[in-house]
Amino acid sequence: MSKDGMECSFCGRKKEETNLLIAGVDAHICDSCVTQAYGIISEEAAFLGDDELVKQADLEVKKPKEIKEFLDQYIIGQDQTKKTMAVAVYNHYKRLQQPDTLEQEVEIEKSNMILVGDTGTGKTLIAKTIAKMLNVPFTIVDATVLTQAGYVGEDVESILSRLLQAADYDVASAERGIVFIDEIDKIARKGDNPSITRDVSGEGVQQALLKLLEGTVVNVAPKGGRKHPDQKFTEVNTKNILFIAGGAFSGIQRNISKRLNRQAVGFGASLSEDQIDEENLLKYIIPTDLKTFGLIPEIIGRLPVLSHMNPLDKKTLRAILTEPKNSLVKQYTKLFQMDGINLKVQDNALDYIVEKALEYNLGARGLRSLCEAILTDAMFEMPSTKESKFVVDQEYAESKLSKTMLRQLKAAS
Ligand code: ADP
Repeated sequence: MSKDGMECSFCGRKKEETNLLIAGVDAHICDSCVTQAYGIISEEAAFLGDDELVKQADLEVKKPKEIKEFLDQYIIGQDQTKKTMAVAVYNHYKRLQQPDTLEQEVEIEKSNMILVGDTGTGKTLIAKTIAKMLNVPFTIVDATVLTQAGYVGEDVESILSRLLQAADYDVASAERGIVFIDEIDKIARKGDNPSITRDVSGEGVQQALLKLLEGTVVNVAPKGGRKHPDQKFTEVNTKNILFIAGGAFSGIQRNISKRLNRQAVGFGASLSEDQIDEENLLKYIIPTDLKTFGLIPEIIGRLPVLSHMNPLDKKTLRAILTEPKNSLVKQYTKLFQMDGINLKVQDNALDYIVEKALEYNLGARGLRSLCEAILTDAMFEMPSTKESKFVVDQEYAESKLSKTMLRQLKAAS
Protein backbone atom coordinates (compact mmCIF):
# COMPACT_ATOMS: atom_id res chain seq x y z
CA MET A 1 0.00 0.00 0.00
CA SER A 2 1.20 3.52 -0.73
CA LYS A 3 1.43 5.92 2.13
CA ASP A 4 -2.10 7.24 1.73
CA GLY A 5 -3.23 3.71 0.92
CA MET A 6 -4.29 4.36 -2.65
CA GLU A 7 -3.26 2.21 -5.56
CA CYS A 8 -4.73 0.98 -8.84
CA SER A 9 -6.82 -2.09 -8.11
CA PHE A 10 -6.02 -3.42 -11.60
CA CYS A 11 -2.27 -3.10 -11.99
CA GLY A 12 -1.24 -2.31 -8.44
CA ARG A 13 0.56 0.94 -9.34
CA LYS A 14 0.79 3.34 -6.42
CA LYS A 15 -0.94 6.68 -6.73
CA GLU A 16 2.33 8.55 -7.18
CA GLU A 17 3.30 6.26 -10.04
CA THR A 18 0.22 7.23 -12.07
CA ASN A 19 -0.89 10.40 -13.81
CA LEU A 20 -4.42 10.00 -12.57
CA LEU A 21 -6.08 7.60 -10.17
CA ILE A 22 -9.86 7.42 -10.40
CA ALA A 23 -11.78 6.31 -7.34
CA GLY A 24 -14.67 3.86 -7.54
CA VAL A 25 -16.86 2.40 -4.75
CA ASP A 26 -14.37 -0.07 -3.38
CA ALA A 27 -11.56 0.24 -5.88
CA HIS A 28 -9.36 2.57 -7.91
CA ILE A 29 -8.25 2.58 -11.55
CA CYS A 30 -5.27 4.40 -13.07
CA ASP A 31 -5.07 6.25 -16.39
CA SER A 32 -3.03 3.58 -18.17
CA CYS A 33 -5.49 0.83 -17.19
CA VAL A 34 -8.34 2.99 -18.52
CA THR A 35 -6.52 3.37 -21.85
CA GLN A 36 -5.80 -0.34 -22.02
CA ALA A 37 -9.40 -1.22 -21.18
CA TYR A 38 -10.68 1.10 -23.91
CA GLY A 39 -8.41 -0.65 -26.42
CA ILE A 40 -9.85 -4.01 -25.39
CA ILE A 41 -13.42 -2.74 -25.77
CA SER A 42 -12.70 -1.35 -29.25
CA GLU A 43 -11.10 -4.61 -30.36
CA GLU A 44 -13.94 -6.69 -28.98
CA ALA A 45 -16.50 -4.44 -30.60
CA ALA A 46 -15.01 -4.88 -34.04
CA PHE A 47 -14.56 -8.59 -33.47
CA LEU A 48 -18.09 -9.27 -32.26
CA GLY A 49 -19.79 -6.88 -34.63
CA ASP A 50 -22.06 -6.06 -31.73
CA ASP A 51 -24.17 -2.98 -32.47
CA GLU A 52 -23.86 -1.35 -29.09
CA LEU A 53 -20.15 -2.00 -28.76
CA VAL A 54 -19.42 -0.86 -32.30
CA LYS A 55 -21.14 2.42 -31.54
CA GLN A 56 -19.00 2.86 -28.47
CA ALA A 57 -15.95 2.33 -30.66
CA ASP A 58 -16.64 5.55 -32.50
CA LEU A 59 -18.29 4.07 -35.53
CA GLU A 60 -21.34 6.19 -35.69
CA VAL A 61 -22.53 6.21 -39.27
CA LYS A 62 -24.23 9.27 -40.60
CA LYS A 63 -27.10 9.14 -43.09
CA PRO A 64 -26.18 9.60 -46.78
CA LYS A 65 -27.45 13.18 -46.80
CA GLU A 66 -25.34 14.05 -43.79
CA ILE A 67 -22.31 12.37 -45.37
CA LYS A 68 -22.79 14.49 -48.50
CA GLU A 69 -23.15 17.63 -46.38
CA PHE A 70 -19.86 16.82 -44.69
CA LEU A 71 -18.16 16.30 -48.06
CA ASP A 72 -19.64 19.60 -49.30
CA GLN A 73 -17.62 21.45 -46.67
CA TYR A 74 -14.36 20.30 -48.22
CA ILE A 75 -15.05 19.42 -51.85
CA ILE A 76 -16.38 21.84 -54.43
CA GLY A 77 -18.69 20.49 -57.14
CA GLN A 78 -18.48 16.78 -58.07
CA ASP A 79 -22.03 16.41 -56.81
CA GLN A 80 -22.80 13.13 -58.53
CA THR A 81 -19.70 11.48 -57.12
CA LYS A 82 -20.31 12.87 -53.64
CA LYS A 83 -23.84 11.42 -53.71
CA THR A 84 -22.72 8.04 -55.03
CA MET A 85 -19.96 7.98 -52.47
CA ALA A 86 -22.29 8.88 -49.60
CA VAL A 87 -24.61 6.00 -50.46
CA ALA A 88 -21.76 3.53 -50.95
CA VAL A 89 -20.14 4.44 -47.65
CA TYR A 90 -23.46 4.31 -45.83
CA ASN A 91 -24.19 0.85 -47.21
CA HIS A 92 -20.69 -0.34 -46.51
CA TYR A 93 -20.89 0.54 -42.85
CA LYS A 94 -24.45 -0.79 -42.56
CA ARG A 95 -23.05 -4.04 -43.84
CA LEU A 96 -20.38 -3.88 -41.17
CA GLN A 97 -22.99 -3.65 -38.47
CA GLN A 98 -24.68 -6.85 -39.57
CA PRO A 99 -24.08 -9.63 -37.09
CA ASP A 100 -21.47 -11.98 -38.46
CA THR A 101 -23.47 -15.22 -38.66
CA LEU A 102 -23.02 -17.78 -41.35
CA GLU A 103 -26.68 -18.11 -42.29
CA GLN A 104 -27.44 -14.60 -43.41
CA GLU A 105 -30.39 -14.74 -45.77
CA VAL A 106 -29.28 -11.68 -47.64
CA GLU A 107 -25.59 -11.11 -47.71
CA ILE A 108 -24.74 -7.52 -48.47
CA GLU A 109 -21.73 -7.25 -50.75
CA LYS A 110 -18.90 -4.80 -50.38
CA SER A 111 -19.27 -1.43 -52.04
CA ASN A 112 -15.68 -0.83 -53.12
CA MET A 113 -15.47 2.08 -55.50
CA ILE A 114 -13.65 3.27 -58.56
CA LEU A 115 -13.33 6.96 -59.39
CA VAL A 116 -12.38 7.98 -62.90
CA GLY A 117 -11.17 11.50 -63.59
CA ASP A 118 -8.23 13.68 -64.46
CA THR A 119 -5.43 14.11 -61.99
CA GLY A 120 -6.06 16.91 -59.51
CA THR A 121 -9.85 16.77 -59.69
CA GLY A 122 -10.25 15.65 -56.08
CA LYS A 123 -10.32 11.84 -56.11
CA THR A 124 -7.85 11.48 -53.25
CA LEU A 125 -9.43 14.39 -51.43
CA ILE A 126 -12.86 12.72 -51.43
CA ALA A 127 -11.48 9.42 -50.13
CA LYS A 128 -9.43 11.20 -47.47
CA THR A 129 -12.38 13.31 -46.37
CA ILE A 130 -14.61 10.26 -46.01
CA ALA A 131 -11.98 8.59 -43.80
CA LYS A 132 -11.70 11.76 -41.73
CA MET A 133 -15.46 11.87 -41.25
CA LEU A 134 -15.63 8.25 -40.19
CA ASN A 135 -12.52 8.55 -38.08
CA VAL A 136 -11.07 5.35 -39.53
CA PRO A 137 -7.48 4.62 -40.58
CA PHE A 138 -6.68 5.69 -44.13
CA THR A 139 -3.84 5.01 -46.48
CA ILE A 140 -2.97 5.87 -50.06
CA VAL A 141 -1.09 3.41 -52.24
CA ASP A 142 0.19 3.89 -55.72
CA ALA A 143 -0.77 0.96 -57.94
CA THR A 144 2.29 1.53 -60.12
CA VAL A 145 4.69 0.34 -57.40
CA LEU A 146 2.79 -2.87 -56.85
CA THR A 147 3.96 -6.04 -58.50
CA GLN A 148 2.99 -9.64 -58.57
CA ALA A 149 4.51 -11.64 -55.70
CA GLY A 150 8.05 -12.65 -56.49
CA TYR A 151 8.95 -9.69 -58.67
CA VAL A 152 10.92 -6.58 -57.81
CA GLY A 153 8.60 -4.00 -56.29
CA GLU A 154 6.03 -4.15 -53.53
CA ASP A 155 3.71 -7.09 -52.97
CA VAL A 156 0.06 -6.16 -52.74
CA GLU A 157 0.21 -7.17 -49.08
CA SER A 158 2.30 -4.07 -48.45
CA ILE A 159 -0.97 -2.12 -48.77
CA LEU A 160 -2.07 -3.70 -45.53
CA SER A 161 1.24 -2.98 -43.77
CA ARG A 162 0.63 0.68 -44.48
CA LEU A 163 -2.94 0.53 -43.26
CA LEU A 164 -1.71 -1.14 -40.08
CA GLN A 165 0.80 1.65 -39.63
CA ALA A 166 -1.94 4.23 -40.13
CA ALA A 167 -3.97 2.40 -37.47
CA ASP A 168 -1.07 2.46 -35.00
CA TYR A 169 -0.91 -1.32 -35.32
CA ASP A 170 -4.42 -1.72 -33.97
CA VAL A 171 -5.56 -4.64 -36.15
CA ALA A 172 -9.28 -4.29 -35.39
CA SER A 173 -9.19 -0.65 -36.36
CA ALA A 174 -7.22 -1.34 -39.57
CA GLU A 175 -9.78 -3.95 -40.52
CA ARG A 176 -12.43 -1.29 -40.94
CA GLY A 177 -10.19 1.29 -42.56
CA ILE A 178 -10.15 2.79 -46.03
CA VAL A 179 -7.50 2.20 -48.68
CA PHE A 180 -7.17 4.53 -51.65
CA ILE A 181 -5.47 2.83 -54.60
CA ASP A 182 -4.20 5.59 -56.84
CA GLU A 183 -3.38 5.18 -60.53
CA ILE A 184 -5.31 1.95 -60.93
CA ASP A 185 -5.39 2.68 -64.67
CA LYS A 186 -1.63 2.13 -64.83
CA ILE A 187 -2.03 -1.58 -64.15
CA ALA A 188 -4.43 -2.05 -67.03
CA ARG A 189 -3.70 -4.80 -69.47
CA LYS A 190 -2.05 -3.45 -72.55
CA GLY A 191 -4.76 -3.69 -75.16
CA ASP A 192 -8.08 -5.48 -74.88
CA ASN A 193 -6.62 -8.76 -75.96
CA PRO A 194 -6.78 -11.60 -73.46
CA SER A 195 -4.38 -13.68 -75.51
CA ILE A 196 -1.48 -11.33 -74.83
CA THR A 197 0.97 -13.09 -72.52
CA ARG A 198 0.62 -11.95 -68.94
CA ASP A 199 2.45 -8.75 -68.19
CA VAL A 200 4.09 -8.52 -64.80
CA SER A 201 3.07 -5.00 -64.03
CA GLY A 202 -0.44 -5.25 -65.40
CA GLU A 203 -2.73 -8.21 -65.27
CA GLY A 204 -0.61 -10.04 -62.70
CA VAL A 205 -1.09 -7.20 -60.21
CA GLN A 206 -4.78 -7.05 -60.96
CA GLN A 207 -5.01 -10.75 -60.18
CA ALA A 208 -3.09 -10.25 -56.95
CA LEU A 209 -5.40 -7.43 -55.92
CA LEU A 210 -8.55 -9.47 -56.47
CA LYS A 211 -8.54 -11.44 -53.24
CA LEU A 212 -7.68 -8.37 -51.22
CA LEU A 213 -10.61 -6.43 -52.63
CA GLU A 214 -13.08 -9.20 -52.07
CA GLY A 215 -12.09 -10.12 -48.55
CA THR A 216 -9.52 -12.54 -47.32
CA VAL A 217 -7.20 -13.10 -44.40
CA VAL A 218 -3.69 -11.99 -45.22
CA ASN A 219 -0.47 -12.52 -43.30
CA VAL A 220 1.03 -9.08 -43.11
CA ALA A 221 4.55 -8.13 -42.17
CA PRO A 222 3.61 -5.22 -39.89
CA LYS A 223 6.72 -3.19 -40.58
CA GLY A 224 6.39 -3.70 -44.31
CA GLY A 225 9.22 -4.73 -46.55
CA ARG A 226 9.97 -8.07 -48.06
CA LYS A 227 8.91 -11.23 -46.34
CA HIS A 228 11.65 -12.35 -44.03
CA PRO A 229 11.83 -15.82 -42.50
CA ASP A 230 11.93 -14.67 -38.89
CA GLN A 231 9.62 -11.72 -39.14
CA LYS A 232 6.41 -12.00 -37.15
CA PHE A 233 3.20 -11.77 -39.16
CA THR A 234 -0.08 -10.22 -38.24
CA GLU A 235 -3.30 -11.60 -39.66
CA VAL A 236 -5.46 -8.95 -41.27
CA ASN A 237 -8.92 -9.69 -42.62
CA THR A 238 -9.79 -7.44 -45.54
CA LYS A 239 -13.50 -8.32 -45.51
CA ASN A 240 -14.55 -4.98 -44.09
CA ILE A 241 -11.85 -2.74 -45.50
CA LEU A 242 -13.27 -0.27 -47.99
CA PHE A 243 -11.19 0.06 -51.14
CA ILE A 244 -11.49 3.15 -53.28
CA ALA A 245 -9.55 3.06 -56.52
CA GLY A 246 -8.82 6.11 -58.62
CA GLY A 247 -7.33 6.76 -62.01
CA ALA A 248 -7.20 9.24 -64.86
CA PHE A 249 -7.76 6.54 -67.53
CA SER A 250 -6.41 8.93 -70.07
CA GLY A 251 -7.84 8.27 -73.51
CA ILE A 252 -10.85 6.37 -72.20
CA GLN A 253 -12.99 9.10 -73.73
CA ARG A 254 -12.29 7.52 -77.12
CA ASN A 255 -13.75 4.21 -75.95
CA ILE A 256 -16.78 5.96 -74.52
CA SER A 257 -17.30 7.98 -77.65
CA LYS A 258 -17.05 4.91 -79.88
CA ARG A 259 -19.51 3.03 -77.73
CA LEU A 260 -21.95 5.93 -77.66
CA ASN A 261 -21.81 6.22 -81.43
CA ARG A 262 -22.34 2.50 -81.83
CA GLN A 263 -25.32 2.71 -79.50
CA ALA A 264 -26.71 5.66 -81.38
CA VAL A 265 -26.57 3.67 -84.59
CA GLY A 266 -27.72 0.41 -83.07
CA PHE A 267 -30.68 1.59 -81.02
CA GLY A 268 -32.40 4.09 -83.23
CA ALA A 269 -30.40 7.07 -82.03
CA SER A 270 -31.54 7.04 -78.40
CA LEU A 271 -28.59 9.24 -77.52
CA SER A 272 -28.38 11.48 -80.53
CA GLU A 273 -25.17 13.42 -81.06
CA ASP A 274 -26.50 16.77 -80.05
CA GLN A 275 -27.45 15.35 -76.66
CA ILE A 276 -23.97 14.08 -75.97
CA ASP A 277 -21.77 16.39 -73.93
CA GLU A 278 -18.57 15.97 -75.95
CA GLU A 279 -16.65 18.13 -73.48
CA ASN A 280 -17.23 15.72 -70.66
CA LEU A 281 -17.62 12.21 -72.04
CA LEU A 282 -16.59 10.72 -68.69
CA LYS A 283 -20.07 11.24 -67.36
CA TYR A 284 -21.30 8.43 -69.64
CA ILE A 285 -18.74 5.95 -68.34
CA ILE A 286 -19.93 2.41 -67.66
CA PRO A 287 -18.00 -0.69 -66.51
CA THR A 288 -17.63 -1.95 -70.11
CA ASP A 289 -15.41 1.05 -70.88
CA LEU A 290 -13.04 0.03 -68.08
CA LYS A 291 -12.85 -3.43 -69.59
CA THR A 292 -12.05 -2.03 -73.01
CA PHE A 293 -9.36 0.07 -71.35
CA GLY A 294 -7.73 -3.07 -69.93
CA LEU A 295 -9.06 -3.79 -66.46
CA ILE A 296 -9.96 -7.44 -66.10
CA PRO A 297 -13.66 -8.16 -65.55
CA GLU A 298 -13.04 -9.68 -62.11
CA ILE A 299 -11.45 -6.45 -60.85
CA ILE A 300 -14.30 -4.40 -62.27
CA GLY A 301 -16.74 -6.73 -60.52
CA ARG A 302 -15.02 -6.14 -57.21
CA LEU A 303 -15.15 -2.38 -57.58
CA PRO A 304 -18.89 -2.26 -58.20
CA VAL A 305 -19.47 1.43 -57.54
CA LEU A 306 -18.24 3.48 -60.49
CA SER A 307 -18.24 7.26 -60.61
CA HIS A 308 -16.51 10.03 -62.53
CA MET A 309 -14.93 13.38 -61.68
CA ASN A 310 -15.82 16.45 -63.72
CA PRO A 311 -13.02 18.61 -65.09
CA LEU A 312 -12.42 21.71 -63.00
CA ASP A 313 -13.69 24.82 -64.77
CA LYS A 314 -13.02 28.45 -63.94
CA LYS A 315 -15.90 28.75 -61.51
CA THR A 316 -14.88 25.61 -59.62
CA LEU A 317 -11.23 26.62 -59.37
CA ARG A 318 -12.26 30.03 -58.10
CA ALA A 319 -14.47 28.42 -55.45
CA ILE A 320 -11.71 25.99 -54.44
CA LEU A 321 -9.54 29.00 -53.54
CA THR A 322 -11.97 30.41 -51.02
CA GLU A 323 -14.88 28.14 -50.14
CA PRO A 324 -13.76 24.83 -48.61
CA LYS A 325 -13.50 24.74 -44.83
CA ASN A 326 -9.72 24.69 -45.13
CA SER A 327 -9.41 26.59 -48.41
CA LEU A 328 -6.05 28.03 -49.40
CA VAL A 329 -7.14 31.61 -48.74
CA LYS A 330 -8.44 30.65 -45.30
CA GLN A 331 -5.15 28.91 -44.53
CA TYR A 332 -2.99 31.86 -45.58
CA THR A 333 -5.28 34.28 -43.73
CA LYS A 334 -4.74 32.26 -40.58
CA LEU A 335 -0.98 32.13 -41.09
CA PHE A 336 -0.78 35.92 -41.44
CA GLN A 337 -3.18 36.39 -38.54
CA MET A 338 -0.76 34.52 -36.30
CA ASP A 339 1.67 37.37 -36.93
CA GLY A 340 -1.04 39.93 -36.24
CA ILE A 341 -1.44 40.75 -39.94
CA ASN A 342 -4.84 41.05 -41.58
CA LEU A 343 -4.54 39.51 -45.07
CA LYS A 344 -7.00 40.53 -47.75
CA VAL A 345 -6.79 38.90 -51.18
CA GLN A 346 -8.85 40.98 -53.57
CA ASP A 347 -11.24 39.46 -56.09
CA ASN A 348 -9.16 40.56 -59.08
CA ALA A 349 -6.12 38.78 -57.61
CA LEU A 350 -8.15 35.58 -57.14
CA ASP A 351 -9.44 35.79 -60.73
CA TYR A 352 -5.90 36.29 -61.94
CA ILE A 353 -4.64 33.21 -60.06
CA VAL A 354 -7.43 31.09 -61.57
CA GLU A 355 -6.70 32.47 -65.04
CA LYS A 356 -3.05 31.51 -64.78
CA ALA A 357 -3.90 28.07 -63.39
CA LEU A 358 -6.07 27.48 -66.47
CA GLU A 359 -3.69 29.07 -68.95
CA TYR A 360 -0.77 26.94 -67.79
CA ASN A 361 -2.94 23.89 -67.20
CA LEU A 362 -1.89 23.64 -63.57
CA GLY A 363 -5.18 22.29 -62.19
CA ALA A 364 -6.28 22.60 -58.58
CA ARG A 365 -2.92 21.46 -57.29
CA GLY A 366 -1.33 24.39 -59.12
CA LEU A 367 -3.40 26.86 -57.14
CA ARG A 368 -1.26 26.18 -54.14
CA SER A 369 2.02 26.66 -55.99
CA LEU A 370 0.71 29.93 -57.43
CA CYS A 371 -0.31 31.22 -54.01
CA GLU A 372 3.06 30.22 -52.57
CA ALA A 373 4.88 32.03 -55.38
CA ILE A 374 2.82 35.16 -54.80
CA LEU A 375 2.97 35.20 -51.01
CA THR A 376 6.43 33.84 -50.15
CA ASP A 377 8.21 37.23 -50.18
CA ALA A 378 5.56 38.72 -47.92
CA MET A 379 5.64 35.72 -45.60
CA PHE A 380 9.42 36.16 -45.38
CA GLU A 381 9.47 39.94 -44.82
CA MET A 382 6.33 40.84 -42.95
CA PRO A 383 6.74 38.97 -39.65
CA SER A 384 9.74 41.25 -38.96
CA THR A 385 7.77 44.44 -39.61
CA LYS A 386 5.07 46.21 -37.64
CA GLU A 387 2.53 45.99 -40.49
CA SER A 388 -0.96 44.97 -39.46
CA LYS A 389 -2.54 44.83 -42.90
CA PHE A 390 -1.61 43.26 -46.22
CA VAL A 391 -3.67 43.65 -49.36
CA VAL A 392 -2.97 41.43 -52.38
CA ASP A 393 -4.42 42.80 -55.59
CA GLN A 394 -3.95 41.71 -59.19
CA GLU A 395 -1.03 44.08 -59.70
CA TYR A 396 0.83 42.64 -56.73
CA ALA A 397 0.08 39.06 -57.85
CA GLU A 398 1.30 39.82 -61.37
CA SER A 399 4.50 41.36 -60.05
CA LYS A 400 5.35 38.15 -58.23
CA LEU A 401 4.61 35.74 -61.07
CA SER A 402 7.07 36.00 -63.91
CA LYS A 403 6.60 34.00 -67.12
CA THR A 404 9.66 31.91 -66.24
CA MET A 405 8.17 31.02 -62.90
CA LEU A 406 4.88 30.02 -64.51
CA ARG A 407 6.69 27.84 -67.02
CA GLN A 408 8.60 26.23 -64.15
CA LEU A 409 5.36 25.52 -62.31
CA LYS A 410 3.93 23.95 -65.44
CA ALA A 411 7.00 21.77 -65.91
CA ALA A 412 6.76 20.64 -62.27
CA SER A 413 3.05 19.82 -62.43
P1 ADP B 1 -6.57 13.52 -57.60
O1 ADP B 1 -6.54 12.47 -56.55
O2 ADP B 1 -7.83 13.47 -58.42
O3 ADP B 1 -5.35 13.56 -58.47
P2 ADP B 1 -6.45 15.36 -55.41
O4 ADP B 1 -7.59 14.89 -54.59
O5 ADP B 1 -5.10 14.95 -54.94
O6 ADP B 1 -6.64 14.94 -56.93
O7 ADP B 1 -6.53 16.95 -55.56
C1 ADP B 1 -5.41 17.79 -55.43
C2 ADP B 1 -5.74 18.99 -54.62
O8 ADP B 1 -6.57 19.87 -55.39
C3 ADP B 1 -6.53 18.70 -53.36
O9 ADP B 1 -5.70 18.46 -52.27
C4 ADP B 1 -7.34 19.96 -53.17
O10 ADP B 1 -6.58 20.93 -52.51
C5 ADP B 1 -7.58 20.45 -54.57
N1 ADP B 1 -8.89 20.03 -55.13
C6 ADP B 1 -9.08 19.28 -56.24
N2 ADP B 1 -10.37 19.15 -56.53
C7 ADP B 1 -11.04 19.79 -55.56
C8 ADP B 1 -12.43 20.01 -55.28
N3 ADP B 1 -13.37 19.52 -56.09
N4 ADP B 1 -12.75 20.74 -54.22
C9 ADP B 1 -11.79 21.25 -53.40
N5 ADP B 1 -10.48 21.10 -53.60
C10 ADP B 1 -10.09 20.37 -54.67
